[in-house]
Amino acid sequence: MGSPKRLLVVAPHSDDEVIGAYTLIRRLRRRGVAVRVVVVTDGAASHPSSLRWPRGRLVAERRCESRRALHRIGVAAAAVAFLGLPDGNLHTRAAAARRGLSRAIGHVHMTLIAVPFEGDDHPDHRTVAACVAALRRPGLRKIAYPVWPTGQRPIGARKLSLTAQERLAKRHAVRGYRTQTGQITDDPDGFAMTRQQIAAFTRPREMFVELPR
Ligand SMILES: [Zn+2]
Repeated sequence: MGSPKRLLVVAPHSDDEVIGAYTLIRRLRRRGVAVRVVVVTDGAASHPSSLRWPRGRLVAERRCESRRALHRIGVAAAAVAFLGLPDGNLHTRAAAARRGLSRAIGHVHMTLIAVPFEGDDHPDHRTVAACVAALRRPGLRKIAYPVWPTGQRPIGARKLSLTAQERLAKRHAVRGYRTQTGQITDDPDGFAMTRQQIAAFTRPREMFVELPR
């Protein structure tokens, strides 16, 4: 991926940053590159009917999960921002998303931005991709990571191969998002990654598509 001065990872939901770019972030932090993360939605749609995890508790916990996972790879809590926009309905607040992302890119002059792939099978991911595509900054390189469906191999994607140890670390990190991996059991409409999805999310390579600037 080269050696950018500053990386911004944009995640539609808390967990996309780790699914899409865990090893990229980890390696760049080890080289001393400044990394910031912006999580765009509040994540409240993963478990809309849980009584034990009402909206406020769920949103707060999902933020903690991102902060914890990122802290372990050298991204401090102060470098992780949450825009708190509506999960599942982000297109209704696309202007707010664009403003928030524009601020995040601008204030420390990001040189590389990693965003969800425009071909992702999730409307919030596509909204974020479109917002970032519309933002133009001189010198800003953009790359996209695929999430949904799992196992996607976008044409022309560059591959970052993980060592066995990096894969283990990533699997541990993905599992650490416990609200998304089965901890919440009282919501029949709730989301939980399957074992197959976790395996696909921790495959031996991360993929990034170079985007037009
Ligand atoms: Zn997502």
